[in-house]
Amino acid sequence: MKIAIYPGSFDPVTLGHLNIIKRSSACFDKLIVCVMVNSSKHGLFVPEERVELLRRCTKRFPNVEIDSSNELLAAYAKRRGAKVVVKGLRAVSDYEQEVQMAVINRKLNPDLDTMFLASSEKYTYLSSTIVKEMARYGADLAEFIPREIVDDVNRKMREAQERKAD
Ligand code: ADP
Repeated sequence: MKIAIYPGSFDPVTLGHLNIIKRSSACFDKLIVCVMVNSSKHGLFVPEERVELLRRCTKRFPNVEIDSSNELLAAYAKRRGAKVVVKGLRAVSDYEQEVQMAVINRKLNPDLDTMFLASSEKYTYLSSTIVKEMARYGADLAEFIPREIVDDVNRKMREAQERKAD
């Protein structure tokens, strides 16, 4: 069985991520989308919430599994029997860091290759950071994130802003 992993922060999942999930899941028997937990980085959503939002948006893809991990990606891939890491490339600015990570991951786990998918032109400007910035100012998020999670992101941002104001 050909298993691939699509790792990221997904804080929250955007239509750019979903586009990569749709296209890459068609290339493998199974795609594991993994929320990589970085303890030094606090996001808007805790990892369990990001997993729940991803699950809700990927129900229609039967070969997609959502998971989270605080392991090194190379170790996680080995444990899950995955030989491919999928990455989306938006612009040249993504390239340098992504290639560096791909080389390091292969050094740590020689069975692991990284495959890059070019972002769909509609989403090259889109990142979770931009989505959060727009949510902070109450902009309409429907064009940037899946419809099923728009209310959750708006609610979470309001709660975060209220906590700050206290
Ligand atoms: P971000 O916070 O920048 O959205 P993530 O860590 O959640 O980043 O992204 C995980 C993976 O998804 C990375 O490989 C990243 O390059 C890719 N990705 C993020 N946004 C897009 C997009 N709009 N189009 C294609 N790939 C993307």
